[in-house]
Amino acid sequence: MSHKVLIANRGEIALRALRACKELDLKTVAVHSDADIDLKHLRFADETVCIGPASPLESYLNVPSILSAAEVTGADAIYPGYGFLAEDHEFAEKCEVSGFKFIGPTASVIKKMGDKITAKTIAEKAGIPTVPGYKDVLPDDESKLSKIAEKIGFPIMIKASAGGGGRGMRVARNIKEFLDGINITKQEAKNAFGNDTLYLEKYIENPRHIEVQVFGDGKGGAIHLGTRDCSLQRRHQKIIEEAPAIDLDESSLNSVLEACVNLCKSIKYEGAGTIEFLYKDGSFFFIEMNTRIQVEHPVTEMITMFDLVKAQLKVALGLDITLKQENITFKGHAMECRINAEDPFTFIPSPGLITKMHPPGGFGVRFDSHIYSGYRVPPYYDSLLAKIITATNKRSSCIKRMKNALDEFFVEGIKTNHPLHLLLMEDKTFCDNRHDINYLEGTFMKQFNND
Ligand code: ADP
Repeated sequence: MSHKVLIANRGEIALRALRACKELDLKTVAVHSDADIDLKHLRFADETVCIGPASPLESYLNVPSILSAAEVTGADAIYPGYGFLAEDHEFAEKCEVSGFKFIGPTASVIKKMGDKITAKTIAEKAGIPTVPGYKDVLPDDESKLSKIAEKIGFPIMIKASAGGGGRGMRVARNIKEFLDGINITKQEAKNAFGNDTLYLEKYIENPRHIEVQVFGDGKGGAIHLGTRDCSLQRRHQKIIEEAPAIDLDESSLNSVLEACVNLCKSIKYEGAGTIEFLYKDGSFFFIEMNTRIQVEHPVTEMITMFDLVKAQLKVALGLDITLKQENITFKGHAMECRINAEDPFTFIPSPGLITKMHPPGGFGVRFDSHIYSGYRVPPYYDSLLAKIITATNKRSSCIKRMKNALDEFFVEGIKTNHPLHLLLMEDKTFCDNRHDINYLEGTFMKQFNND
């Protein structure tokens, strides 16, 4: 049977998915908003459908419109990418009910892993280490709450079970902050997610962010594709990622990798997923599972030569694929710099016309991007413009290759964080791999504020 895939996303990930579909001889439908008629992948798709006005709510999040586009074009599967509807279990359910294959895990798995308390319980059952804390129903009584807090020990992170995207969490460093924080977070969670269930975790000070790429066949088979280090972040958003994560405690790592695979097997996970951890002093602490492809998936592809997007399509469409741990081999080191349309130091978005641009190239350089000279970056969506990925045999040469790639690359007409990446490639703490998740916005930025 020939398949037709509707790509329910935009920008670089839509182009990435389109390329994978073409390699598998799948027909493609690209959907777009009114503001996105100039997107690169639209020119290569078999069919294109406008799904609504610029506002994401009326287009890329507009479920009836996307399902109608699938219906009228005769698509049989929907590729969600990341962001937008990728982790929306109701959307996955509606695809299934309407007869379209949602390319990803089942709606019920997305729902379970999207609820942070349920996810933590499932992770613990699979033998994954989690952050110590409290996830039973919180009492209203202040003295009982105080006892729970004392038992965990300050600082404590108050988290909403339905939280996501960095929202619905708060750090408390003493009893007063804790009791006030519970009330505020509860209210915020109720307003933002319609669910005010909270749980508590010990706040891990200055950890690294380490994640494990997993892949499941949906029938109880699963493999891992190693680790990524995504500690270089601003506002809880990653800007540089690399694979593998280095300088990890080997025995903790091996048991975590095994437990991650067990988790996927236990829930019959289908497709690509990421299990995220905070890492401190040789220990891993589970924070969440993302049930979708991640922005940073290319670094894993570059060290394994395993095409994650093609594998997602193959598993979802029932095409031939072999998933065996012993077939996965790791070679070298890969790094990704996310180029965003934003001021490099204030991080304020900078949409507009790209008057001129030139991509980097050469051996071991990958450029995943939808931008071109004359492309106008619309102000309505994520600011990600391009991912520059370099791969070599070891981390130090990977940084050197990235410096060259950054030197060759330019974008004119709008501001990007390109200068920040250049500085980071020269930064001793980063080059020595001594940074943690707070380094960029803390110590690194301070050196510029003092000038
Ligand atoms: P979200 O789904 O909103 O991204 P996460 O649970 O993944 O929420 O947490 C986002 C970020 O918050 C983490 O990357 C980390 O920086 C911080 N964080 C979360 N839990 C803790 C914790 N227990 N201790 C320290 N930092 C934490």
